[in-house]
Amino acid sequence: MSKMDKITAFVSEIFSSAQGEGLNIGRRQLFVRFCECHRKCLYCDTAVERTEFVSIEREPGSGKFESVVNPLTPAKLLDLLVEMNTPEAAHDDLFITGGEPLLQADFLTKFLPEARKRLNLPIHLETSGDLPEPFSKVTEWIDHVLMDIKLPSVTGEPEAWEMHRMFLNIIEREEIGATIKLVVSADTSDQDLSESAELIHASGSQAAVVLQPMTAASKTSRVPTAKQVLTWQSEMAVALGRSVRIIPQCHKMMGLL
Ligand code: SF4
Repeated sequence: MSKMDKITAFVSEIFSSAQGEGLNIGRRQLFVRFCECHRKCLYCDTAVERTEFVSIEREPGSGKFESVVNPLTPAKLLDLLVEMNTPEAAHDDLFITGGEPLLQADFLTKFLPEARKRLNLPIHLETSGDLPEPFSKVTEWIDHVLMDIKLPSVTGEPEAWEMHRMFLNIIEREEIGATIKLVVSADTSDQDLSESAELIHASGSQAAVVLQPMTAASKTSRVPTAKQVLTWQSEMAVALGRSVRIIPQCHKMMGLL
């Protein structure tokens, strides 16, 4: 058994679609969604539990899924992705998401270098942005990070400011392209927004900052009003001295995965 085969990960989905969040909206990406998450955000719309099978949508947008038994070795995951990364699909990027993919950092240290060689695509990582130590293990293979700053007034969870601060510092030190996403709901507190602006400012990050209005989810429907979101956009832009964008989850509008 090779080193590549000793470590495994649970993956919930593999599919090809257009990015629906953040500044890279619309880019065609090959998605890998890892199981498991360390958080329980109130607005979470993703099933994060380990699944017995990986669901693979080979024909993009078809809604027809093939099942492959979990867990996967890095080599097996790569073989599945290579099969899907046809020239006809014209992927712009490989997009690693979850759950929280950094919970699989040891797996990623084996998988990402090979993915870079065999897929020849920029590698994008979506993360909750609060696991700096596992993040530091994989930075050399990451081209872009879509990171959250989790607002306690929105997630219903304890604050993670220090972890976010360390995470932002790694992005700056390693000069990784990044988008910072703040999900906002009707319950967003001014204190959380000013704390976030301070964190971003102190890190020196020039990453794009996106306010993503919460969409109604199974556990909450505290969707913010237009007035709230526009007020927060102005306040944040003034605090940072640069543009802040409002971008909703667009894949849901288009019925994309
Ligand atoms: S970090 Fe993401 S996947 Fe995890 S609970 Fe929060 S919204 Fe869901």
